[in-house]
Amino acid sequence: MYSSKANEMNDQNAITKSDKHTVSIQNGQEYDYSNTTRDNIEESNNNSILKAVNISKVYELPAGDTAVLKNINFSVKKGEFVSIVGPSGSGKSTLLNIIGALDRPTAGKIYLKGIDIFSLSDRKIAKMRNQMIGFIFQSYNLINRTTVLSNVEIPAIIAGMDGKAVTQRALNLLKILGIRDKASLKPLSLSGGQQQRVAIARALMNNPAMILADEPTGNLDTKTGEDVFRLLKMISSKYNRTIVMVTHNPDLAQETDKTIYVRDGKIEKEIIN
Ligand code: ADP
Ligand code: MG
Repeated sequence: MYSSKANEMNDQNAITKSDKHTVSIQNGQEYDYSNTTRDNIEESNNNSILKAVNISKVYELPAGDTAVLKNINFSVKKGEFVSIVGPSGSGKSTLLNIIGALDRPTAGKIYLKGIDIFSLSDRKIAKMRNQMIGFIFQSYNLINRTTVLSNVEIPAIIAGMDGKAVTQRALNLLKILGIRDKASLKPLSLSGGQQQRVAIARALMNNPAMILADEPTGNLDTKTGEDVFRLLKMISSKYNRTIVMVTHNPDLAQETDKTIYVRDGKIEKEIIN
């Protein structure tokens, strides 16, 4: 259950389940390793949340194989705000989907908090994704037949949590994002910027170790996009969340801690901003 005084998104008891063999995620810090063998935990984990090692992705097409990602290596530290930029078609979304375990690489490994995620079963990957990763997409991906509040609660419901404390936490996240008054409305009655705020609240619901955003400002006008980016910056600095964001906007990229430039499926350079 959520703590009754979950009035901060990083509340120490934000998500805890009583059974010690299930999940305890506190402050995005912990994952239950009890089902994980020694072999898929990397020893020298230091403070990197994410490590991509020799990632490649090949699509087999009738016209022949297409290598979309070629030997990608990088890491993301806890609390870091990383941007990924590059031309359209360079492989950014493919890479983000692999980092978030929505898609499998053809070769290479992704370590999430030291765990080799693709060595786990599909069921465990899905569980880990639900509990450790928050996704934000360009087109919001909200469920339009239900309310804003229900949309934010969904990740908790999937994690098997329910009840008043879940609702309280969802409302609190909506408040932090400035849209508490929209809770009972349907997403489509909100503006684009407001819908993206709902998606951000949903991404934060399970107190994830990492937030992945694929062009979160791509459907928004400049000013609204800027506002949404400010919220992500606030979440990064005030709540020390780890964020990886794909963007087309070089001005926004420059305001993140580190920018990874992708071209033709390879990392061209990494710049500390
Ligand atoms: P970006 O997000 O940088 O615009 P993507 O990762 O979406 O790029 O796509 C990279 C390349 O992979 C593109 O050439 C795209 O056409 C190709 N691609 C993406 N998904 C698939 C797929 N499911 N099957 C075949 N090719 C794909
Ligand atoms: Mg893309």
